[in-house]
Amino acid sequence: MELNPAALALFVEGYQKIVEGIGVLGFDTQDANFVDTAVRAAKGFHELIHDQTQARAEVETLLAKTFPAKYTEMVISKHNTAFGVCPHHLLPVIYRISMAYIPTEKVLGLSKLSRLARLLARGPRLQEDLTHELADALHEQLQSQGSAVYIEGLHMCMAARGVGAHEARLVTSGVRGVFLENPATREEFIKLVVAPSITLV
Ligand SMILES: [Zn+2]
Repeated sequence: MELNPAALALFVEGYQKIVEGIGVLGFDTQDANFVDTAVRAAKGFHELIHDQTQARAEVETLLAKTFPAKYTEMVISKHNTAFGVCPHHLLPVIYRISMAYIPTEKVLGLSKLSRLARLLARGPRLQEDLTHELADALHEQLQSQGSAVYIEGLHMCMAARGVGAHEARLVTSGVRGVFLENPATREEFIKLVVAPSITLV
């Protein structure tokens, strides 16, 4: 994803102020380690917030490339790591995203599922909104029989306030179609995603 020069310039300005503030706290910001920190920090921050015009176009292209479904079993992609920031504090959130859908006619490549989750996650957004947007995309845009999304988010804003790391984890889920109508299908999905990962090799 390309960096947006106008947004980047504003982020750099903002981080220059942050570095000044750090100096007020008694840190030596004239130290060699702070040279170009504002620029590096701004780029790093921008990586967590994608330009939405580019992101939307990529999501559209991604969802348009499907294969004909040979089977109509549950397709599941488990424990994908994605990054974003929360809109309330602009602090990073690390997500672990699991998602599933039951195809009707179209299937998406497995790597595409993971890419979709990572694309939608980048930005200042509520974990709840991300959960539902992902569930909608896998149900409506793939015209699937149903979809399910389960997200655990480790929120730095909660961790930094001194809440224990465990309490800083927020869990959200969203279900559509058959996952909503059929409790057994929903339970099968939840059981699969909460089971501890077993290393294959
Ligand atoms: Zn927050």
